[in-house]
Amino acid sequence: MLRRLLLVPLLLHAAAAGDICIVGSGISGSSTAFFLSNYTTVLSGGQLRVFERRAKRRRRAGGRLATVTVAGDDFEAGGSIIHPRNLHVRRFADLLGLAAKTNGDDDWLGIWDGSRFVFQTLRPPPPGASWLRRKLHALLNTLHLLKRYGLSLVKMDRFVQDMLQRFLLYYNGFESRPVFDSVEEMLKWSGLYDLTRRTLEEELVDAGLNSQTISELVTVITRINYGQSASISGLAGAVSLAGSESGLWAVKGGNWQLAAGLLKAANATLHLQEGIDSIHYAGDHYVLKSNKGHEYDCEATVVATPLDEVNITFSPAISISPRKMQHTHATFVRGLLNPKYFGLSSVSDIPELIGTMEVPEIPFSSISILKKYSEQDMTYKVFSRKKLNDSLLDDIFSRRKETIRINWPAYPHYEAPEVFSPLILDGKQLYYVNTFESAASAMETGAVAAENVARLLLARLRLPLPSRLHLGADDPDQRADL
Ligand SMILES: Cc1cc2nc3c(=O)[nH]c(=O)nc-3n(C[C@H](O)[C@H](O)[C@H](O)COP(=O)(O)OP(=O)(O)OC[C@H]3O[C@@H](n4cnc5c(N)ncnc54)[C@H](O)[C@@H]3O)c2cc1C
Repeated sequence: MLRRLLLVPLLLHAAAAGDICIVGSGISGSSTAFFLSNYTTVLSGGQLRVFERRAKRRRRAGGRLATVTVAGDDFEAGGSIIHPRNLHVRRFADLLGLAAKTNGDDDWLGIWDGSRFVFQTLRPPPPGASWLRRKLHALLNTLHLLKRYGLSLVKMDRFVQDMLQRFLLYYNGFESRPVFDSVEEMLKWSGLYDLTRRTLEEELVDAGLNSQTISELVTVITRINYGQSASISGLAGAVSLAGSESGLWAVKGGNWQLAAGLLKAANATLHLQEGIDSIHYAGDHYVLKSNKGHEYDCEATVVATPLDEVNITFSPAISISPRKMQHTHATFVRGLLNPKYFGLSSVSDIPELIGTMEVPEIPFSSISILKKYSEQDMTYKVFSRKKLNDSLLDDIFSRRKETIRINWPAYPHYEAPEVFSPLILDGKQLYYVNTFESAASAMETGAVAAENVARLLLARLRLPLPSRLHLGADDPDQRADL
C-alpha cells in the first residue's frame, strides 16, 4: 500500500508544464486545438492535450456532433446542418477532404397546432422530376408562402441577412479584427450585442413582421433548431432562422469527423474516455486531475464544454453566470406515423416535416422523415422537450420496429438579456470557450469563439502569431460564392 502511495504521484504525473490542455473534444475543443497549432509553431516546447470524458458507447471525438445508427443507416443525432456562410466549418471540411452532402431545399412542411395543420407548403415533385418542374414548384411554393405571410417573409430575410453580414466580420484578417477578452466586447465590435438584450419576438415586431408569421413560421423554426419559442434572445433567434435558409449541408458520413480530423491536423494528443475532475492553479501552471487518477501539468487550460451540467472542481473557485441548458430529446423511430393522430385518413397526407406552434399540449417540437424505405416503412427523427414514453409513441406511430432515444443537454435556454460568463475564468491562463454559446449555439459559433480564444491565449502567453490571416470573407473570390 505504502509503495503504491509513493509510486502513484511519480508515475501518473504525466505531462510537463508547457502543455496546453483542452477539456472537451467537440467542435469548440477541436477547433481551439486546430487554431492553436495553425497560428504558432512554438508551443513553449509542450504539446496539445485534449480530454474527452465521453463514455464507452461513443468512443470518439465530436461531443454534440454524433451519429446514431438505425436499421444499419447512420443519421446525425445532434448538430446536423451547416449554413453555406459558415466559413470556418466549410474550410475545415475542405482542408480535411471531407465530402459535403446537401440538404434538400424543398421539404414539405406542415405546421401543426395540436388539432390540425394550419398551413402546409406544397408537396414537392417526385424524385427524378425534371429541372423545369422543380423550378416551377419552387416558384409556386414561394407564392404560396407569400400569400399567407406576405411581406413579413421579406422582412424576416432582411433581419437574418443583417445578422449574417455582421457575423462575417469575424472572418476578417488579423489586421482589422482585434483579439477579444470578453464575449460582450466581441459581440459589441460586430454590432451583434444588442440582439442578445431583447427577445427574438421583440426584434421581429420592430422589424415589421406580423404576429401570424411569428407565431407560426418563426416559432416552428425556433422550436426545431433550439427547442424553444420565439421568446428566445434575438441573436440565438436570428441564427436559428438562418438555419432555415437554402444551401444547408452536412458532412457525408457524419459531422463528428470535423472534430476528429481537426484534432489529427493539430497533432493533438486525444485522451479518450478520460474526464477531467478538477483543475487546480499551482502558482505558474494548472494541474488537471482525471477520472483515471492521472495528473497533468498544463501551462494554459481551455475549457471547451458548457460548465452548466459538468462537475469540475476548480481551485481557487471560479465564478460563472448561472445558465440553464435546454434539454432536447431526440427520438429516432423506424416505423410508420399514424395518420389518425393527425386527423388524416392516409399516411401519404402527412407532411414530411411537421413543425409545431407553441401550444403546451403538443408533446413534440418536430417530426421529420430521415429515410423512406417504402411508403410503409420510414425512419423518423422526433424532437421534444420531454422524454416521449412508449404509450405516447404508440399513439403517434401506427408501427414501430426500432426506437432510439437520446437526451441532449442541447444548448442554453435562451433568455434576454443574456448574461455572459468570462472568457478568461481566473484572470490568468484558464479560458472558457462555451461562454459564447449564450449568444448562439452552433458548430460555427463554437469555431468562431475557439478562434478568438486561441488568439487570446497565444497573445497572453506572448507567443508569436502570424502577421496576416485570411479566412475568406475578405477574399473577393470567396465572397462571390457566399
Ligand atoms: C439535437 C441538437 C441539434 C443541433 N443542431 C445543430 C445544427 O443543425 N447545426 C449546428 O450548427 N449546431 C447544432 N446544434 C448545436 C451544436 O451541436 C453545438 O453547438 C456544438 O456541437 C457544440 O460543440 P462544443 O464543442 O462547444 O460542445 P460539445 O460538443 O458538447 O463538446 C464538449 C465535450 O466535452 C466533453 N466533456 C464534458 N465534460 C468533460 C470533462 N470533465 N472532461 C473531459 N471531457 C468533458 C463532453 O463529453 C463533450 O464531448 C445542435 C445540438 C443538438 C444537441
